[in-house]
Amino acid sequence: MPAYRKPKLRCHATGKRPFPDELAASCMADSLSRKYKTTLYIYNCPWCGNWHLTKRPPKSSATLKESYGR
Ligand SMILES: [Zn+2]
Repeated sequence: MPAYRKPKLRCHATGKRPFPDELAASCMADSLSRKYKTTLYIYNCPWCGNWHLTKRPPKSSATLKESYGR
């Protein structure tokens, strides 16, 4: 049997748990947002190409514009 098992997936750049797609990330963000009564955002990681959760809103001005529009 293998002596060394693959460790839990972690992004080497952020140390965060990676999600393979936006849907999985947003599902988790939604569930954790309710659990911790906070707002979580998702973003596409430029280092690993997966999605991560973050407490800070994305800096993208395009996203901000969309929010203001509503
Ligand atoms: Zn990453």
